[in-house]
Amino acid sequence: MEQRASYSGHATFMRRPASGSWEGTDLVVAGVPFDVATTNRPGARFGPRAIREQSLQLDWGPIWPWGFDPFERLRVVDSGDVDWDWGRPQDMAPAVLGHVGRILDAGALPLVFGGDHYVTLPVLRALAERHGPVALVHFDAHRDVETGAGEGRIDHGIVFSEALAEGLLVEEACVQIGIRTVFEGETGSAMTVLDAGRVHAMEPEEVARTIREVVGGRPVHVTFDIDCLDPAFAPGTGTPVPGGLSTHQARSVLWRLRGLRFAGFDIMEVAPAYDPAGITALAAATLAVDFCCLAAGE
Ligand code: MN
Ligand code: MN
Repeated sequence: MEQRASYSGHATFMRRPASGSWEGTDLVVAGVPFDVATTNRPGARFGPRAIREQSLQLDWGPIWPWGFDPFERLRVVDSGDVDWDWGRPQDMAPAVLGHVGRILDAGALPLVFGGDHYVTLPVLRALAERHGPVALVHFDAHRDVETGAGEGRIDHGIVFSEALAEGLLVEEACVQIGIRTVFEGETGSAMTVLDAGRVHAMEPEEVARTIREVVGGRPVHVTFDIDCLDPAFAPGTGTPVPGGLSTHQARSVLWRLRGLRFAGFDIMEVAPAYDPAGITALAAATLAVDFCCLAAGE
């Protein structure tokens, strides 16, 4: 691979071609700069650009510890950011549904950069239209299954209660990893929850084995709220919660998920204004490359 200075040139994800034409591709990156559904600090609208920028320092070839360059195995393009009228936040979800739907129609896997976690809802709608209800591997400090689904609210805390209410998920095939908050009236009682305390007490092999058992052979969406990571590793997010996973801990789980039937990937809630050293966006970019390696197989 030809290597360029990380601070120079066009800042697409991992220097992949910027393209709105996705036939013949394997994986398409899309940004969704939306953060009006956040409950605490805003700023995740700047997440997609920050993840792309930090990815530029990862673009030199084989990925440790995978030992191969996923972009030699997969045709990956960066479709840029989804467009809608910023004065109509209700238009974000239909725009993402259409964009991700076109990626799926082209036969490619979507890799979506948020944006706050509400953005995952239209991604799941697009996946369910093609696959039926899907399994979910969900990394987060929060379960995001609060009450209030079905009322037209735009709130990142209800994304998975909405998805369950809409029948987008196979509830018993959903696993939530790194949880360390609790809210009254949470739905999704058939989901498997590996809270942060349990994850800290488990080996990554054991976490991965549980994920495999829950998901089985179903098409699965992997959604990573960056606040799953401890604020020491990911300060740049809207609702940080102490006691989370290290970047290495999360990656060690991902490395062991080879062979699942991946339907889509997203990384949400990166808010660069609280990320002075860029480490949160760098962690997100690193996880995104791990997703590409998973999509490439092996
Ligand atoms: Mn979340
Ligand atoms: Mn969260």
